[in-house]
Amino acid sequence: MRYVRPDTTSIVETEEMPDAKSDAAKSVLNLSRKLSIVSEDTTSLNEGGQEIVEMSDEVLIDSSWVKVAGYYSIWDTHNINPYRVDGRRIRDTLTLRLTEPERQRFSKMPLSKTPITSGFTFRWGRWHFGVDLDLETGDSVRAAFDGVIRISKWDGGGYGNYLLVRHYNGLETLYGHLSKPLVAVGTFVRAGQVIGLGGSTGRSTGSHLHFEVRYEGNPINPTYVYNFPGYELRGDTFTITAALFNYYNQAVRRGHSHRSEPTAARQVATHKIRSGDTLSEIADRYGVRVSTLKRLNPSLRGKLQPGKKLRVK
Ligand SMILES: [Zn+2]
Repeated sequence: MRYVRPDTTSIVETEEMPDAKSDAAKSVLNLSRKLSIVSEDTTSLNEGGQEIVEMSDEVLIDSSWVKVAGYYSIWDTHNINPYRVDGRRIRDTLTLRLTEPERQRFSKMPLSKTPITSGFTFRWGRWHFGVDLDLETGDSVRAAFDGVIRISKWDGGGYGNYLLVRHYNGLETLYGHLSKPLVAVGTFVRAGQVIGLGGSTGRSTGSHLHFEVRYEGNPINPTYVYNFPGYELRGDTFTITAALFNYYNQAVRRGHSHRSEPTAARQVATHKIRSGDTLSEIADRYGVRVSTLKRLNPSLRGKLQPGKKLRVK
């Protein structure tokens, strides 16, 4: 056990450490996990489609494949971070256009008043992946950009009632401790639209909004994107680089050693068979050969059975 001196720079301590099993705690990669051995390339799956594919990362330990992570790719309504991308491994510099005035896409602040009560920093023995913004219970909480509600969930050990919005600009924003979420999963929202009412649900000791900004699941310090408390975007573009995620190196809790080191890793994707599916159609959809499907599913013979799972990768 390693104890870390709590951060004392926050003015008001409004949030407790989330439970280890809470969505809040599970929302970031297990940073001590060695990601480099697993291929993260899911780009060939579901291009242009709305398929939900069940993924699992498996590692070979002592000659058996052990599932180390299960998740859905790419669109998922349960996991804050289904992407499993370690931001530190981003090689290119990517500039996002946060607003697109010519398409009537703008930016709005999540609250009308936004004094920060706690920042993006190490606190309570772990990293605090957002900023806490003061509010009164019942205050309107607004979508930061246009987008679609990806998650509306209850997380008793962490975020409480929370919403996660997937934006067109590539970012995702998360709104925690709401007293009342007002929009359902899949709802299209405009920047500035009221999506919930502020509160103090979950691991929280006072009314505030826990606000996160993420890129492919990786939390970004919101003060890089926004000027607080001036409540405005710092710029109409935002550049993603690996350096944004250097804080992971501080966030990793050291001192844990693996009992058995994996010797290989693989990523498995499965498709749930629906009536009418044919092998060649499935192969097409996932960009693989029929022979590959046969090789991955040795027990497959004859007709495809709806409801059964078929390995596609
Ligand atoms: Zn917080």
